Amino acid sequence: MNFQLHKAASLPDAIALSRRLAPDVRYIAGGTDLIIQLRRGVKSFGNLIDLSGLKSLRQIAETAEGYRIGALCTHKDIDLHSGLLRDYPALGQAARVVGGHQVRNAGTIGGNLANASPAADVAVALLGLDAVIVAAGEGGSRHIAIADFFTGPGQSLLAPGELIEAVLLPKPAPGESCCFLKAGRRKAMEIAVVSVALRLRLDNADAIADIRIALGAVGPRPLRALGTEAMLLGRKPDAALIAKAAVAIQADCTPRSDVRASAEYRRELVGGMLLRALQHCLKAETPHA
Ligand SMILES: Cc1cc2nc3c(=O)[nH]c(=O)nc-3n(C[C@H](O)[C@H](O)[C@H](O)COP(=O)(O)OP(=O)(O)OC[C@H]3O[C@@H](n4cnc5c(N)ncnc54)[C@H](O)[C@@H]3O)c2cc1C
Repeated sequence: MNFQLHKAASLPDAIALSRRLAPDVRYIAGGTDLIIQLRRGVKSFGNLIDLSGLKSLRQIAETAEGYRIGALCTHKDIDLHSGLLRDYPALGQAARVVGGHQVRNAGTIGGNLANASPAADVAVALLGLDAVIVAAGEGGSRHIAIADFFTGPGQSLLAPGELIEAVLLPKPAPGESCCFLKAGRRKAMEIAVVSVALRLRLDNADAIADIRIALGAVGPRPLRALGTEAMLLGRKPDAALIAKAAVAIQADCTPRSDVRASAEYRRELVGGMLLRALQHCLKAETPHA
């Protein structure tokens, strides 16, 4: 593991450093993932640009439209923010199950997204919440809808030299509920075998007016279950429909077998988890007057 560490003094400085040192360069935030990959020899870079001094990227700001979460906010920062936990319980539920205390104290939301792992917990929760990613590069900042962001395992729409500056979350609509569920092989320090993030809103007739289902570890990237969403939208979620959705969701997944679980097991598991998530959100839903 041989690299030179460059401390970025500002966002423009980080971007300029990245251009000067390209292509043998990578950004580093909490280092919980990158350092392990460098140690194992899975990756090798001559230069790392340390973003950790950019304090403006470690702020959570609430606006009339929603929240702006700086990319350097850690999983612990999210779990300590009462506004975020109130408005998006799914985000807190995801942040709370990332690794152990050390990983949650150092690992960042930007690192979790940039990793573009199909099993990244916070990334899956943010996909279910329709987050927008603010990416900064030489040409300035641009907004990327999270539904477009992940392009494959470890791959995203970030251009060379671009970094994640922040994540934007719209304010939840009245009556909206959400949750995140993760199945792993043990309680702590474990990457998801399957994860499900659900966001739901009913209309005045108790039919589903809006729904997002995001899935982790059942495809090459965090996925939206678009077929199941379409099947549920506009319909009353009674027991029969929920049972049908738990079967239909298998068609939205392309899981692979690996050391953690077989593809068949993942396919079975995802249906049961969607069922639990739907039951949870429907119970949390405020009854209509
Ligand atoms: C023991 C262990 C357990 C773990 N368990 C989980 C788990 O349960 N769930 C889970 O989701 N993850 C888990 N992880 C993975 C990882 O720790 C998290 O995804 C974490 O959020 C990564 O953030 P980081 O700041 O440490 O990223 P880093 O390691 O600093 O960087 C990771 C990648 O993201 C890039 N990057 C970082 N910040 C930015 C940015 N702002 N803009 C552009 N690129 C950037 C880096 O260049 C690098 O390629 C685990 C890791 C370990 C070591």
